[in-house]
Amino acid sequence: MQALTERQVRRSFVNCSRGEADGLTLPRDFAALDWAALDLLGWRDPKAPLRGYLVLETDGGPVGLSVRAADTRMSVRTAAMCQLCETPRTGDAVSLFTARRAGEAGRNGNTVGLYVCADLACSARVRTEIPPWLRERDPVEVVAERSAELRTRAQGFLDAVRR
Ligand SMILES: [Zn+2]
Repeated sequence: MQALTERQVRRSFVNCSRGEADGLTLPRDFAALDWAALDLLGWRDPKAPLRGYLVLETDGGPVGLSVRAADTRMSVRTAAMCQLCETPRTGDAVSLFTARRAGEAGRNGNTVGLYVCADLACSARVRTEIPPWLRERDPVEVVAERSAELRTRAQGFLDAVRR
C-alpha cells in the first residue's frame, strides 16, 4: 500500500468517533513501516488491550476500521484459521474481533464479527507463513495470490461494516 501519514491514518476511520481516532495509539514501529510490503495495516492498540485497527487502501483512499477483540480466547489445542489471511493457527492465536457498523447502524449497536489473527499481522503472515498445502507451488505466485485474497477479504469485511 502507499505510505500514509499519521494524520491520514487518524482521519481514515469510518466506524468510530473522531475523538477515538485521535486518541488511538499508532503501531510502535509506525515511522519505520515498510508500506510497500503491506496489503493493509493492522495492529493492536499498545495501550488499550482489546482494541485493534485495520487500515485498508481503497479506490476512495485509506479507510480505517476500529475493532474490538473478544476477551475470551480459544484453546491452544484447537485448530483455527484466520478469516482474513487464511493461515492455519492454533486457537489461542486467533481472536473474534467485532467492528461497530458505520453510521446509524453502529450507533444502534450493530456489529460485524470475524475471526482474525490476534495480532492483526495478516499482511506479514501471507508472505511468511505459507500453509503446508501450498508449499509445493511457486512461492512468488503463492504470495501474490495470498496477498490479493487478503485484500479482497478485507474489502469484504469493510463492505459489511459499511452496509
Ligand atoms: Zn490473519
